[in-house]
Amino acid sequence: MSADWKDIAQKIKKIHKNKDFVPLHEPSFTETEVEYVTDCIRSGWVSSVGKYVDQFERDLADYTGVKRAVAVVNGTAALHISLKIAGVQAGDEVIMPALTFIATANAVSYLNAVPHFADVSETTLGLDPIKLETYLTEIGTMKNGVLVNKQTDRIIRAVVPMHTFGHPVDLDPLVELCARFNLALVEDAAESLGSFYKGKHTGGFGIAGALSFNGNKIITTGGGGVILTNDDQFADYAKHITTTAKIPHPWEYRHDEVGYNYRMPNINAALGCAQLEKMDLFLNSKRKTTVKYAELLEQLDGVKLFQEPSFARSNYWLQTMVLDEKFHNRNYVLEQLNEKGAMARPIWTPINRLEPYKDCQAMDLTITNNFNERIVNIPSTPLKGDPHE
Ligand SMILES: *Cc1c(COP(=O)(O)O)cnc(C)c1O
Repeated sequence: MSADWKDIAQKIKKIHKNKDFVPLHEPSFTETEVEYVTDCIRSGWVSSVGKYVDQFERDLADYTGVKRAVAVVNGTAALHISLKIAGVQAGDEVIMPALTFIATANAVSYLNAVPHFADVSETTLGLDPIKLETYLTEIGTMKNGVLVNKQTDRIIRAVVPMHTFGHPVDLDPLVELCARFNLALVEDAAESLGSFYKGKHTGGFGIAGALSFNGNKIITTGGGGVILTNDDQFADYAKHITTTAKIPHPWEYRHDEVGYNYRMPNINAALGCAQLEKMDLFLNSKRKTTVKYAELLEQLDGVKLFQEPSFARSNYWLQTMVLDEKFHNRNYVLEQLNEKGAMARPIWTPINRLEPYKDCQAMDLTITNNFNERIVNIPSTPLKGDPHE
């Protein structure tokens, strides 16, 4: 049986109250954004210092319940610095899902370390802790308190789970696994602002977590990111090296190591402060979309709307269809929806297939490869007409 995907596209557009074209995810702004950004410009403090950076960091710490937040230029920089301070060194290996955005792997490469790809779980779309534990037991051995890959002789230093499309991975067993193998846990929480695991916000379970505020994320600062951590020393050091490692002084230029110019500009933070005030509205609207999409897709055989795992409350950043290959061809579905103006995208190509990472080690990736053929994201911007508009 084949579904009428052109009809589905029309119905998706109707849900978003748009006749012509509905993007995958676009920013939602009101007068508050204009007000804060204007205030920032009028103050003259648009660049690397100013009150909005401090306020945004405090607001993020409050919202997530993680002790400290250090705002930076983007999510990739947040990952880079988190991994560096977590102790990842040149030649180390870092475990991550093969099914993620390339930034997760690039951040590891910036430290001259090597990604090592793991499979994902069907219920979370993120790292499968049970499969990973079995795998590490098999390929690794503890030597002087660190986990060494028996096949490459390199130290496996860290694990980077990623909360795909906002759905939290099963963190408890991952935290346990990291403790057992002495691995640093750094969450790629770029997509999961507003997502909670067993009542606790994602990004605070390991030594650090990285969020992104790129234009397509649940809230945006234009471009931006943040490092979350419960460790004061970690946060202070992150702040230091992302602001060129400058030692505070009224006039002297003294820098005590090679630092980075990664600080979030004040004008971006102003936008972020306004956006963060709307989190609850965005989250409610996204859950409404989930209900509407679930109803719409219920009528079709072989299509399911991906729903949050039982232990999580997800932000539903990107709405996700999981197709049964017996009924639907992914490329056909993409073609039909896009042609009719309901923007649809596949999940990322598994990173181990991409040129820069094709020689990296990977475990059995059965679920990753299977999902790659079956996942289509559909328009997910907070709905028009909801109170934030
Ligand atoms: C968006 C994203 C990033 C990177 O964030 P930028 O702010 O674009 O640098 C990293 N990882 C994942 C999974 C992302 O979705």
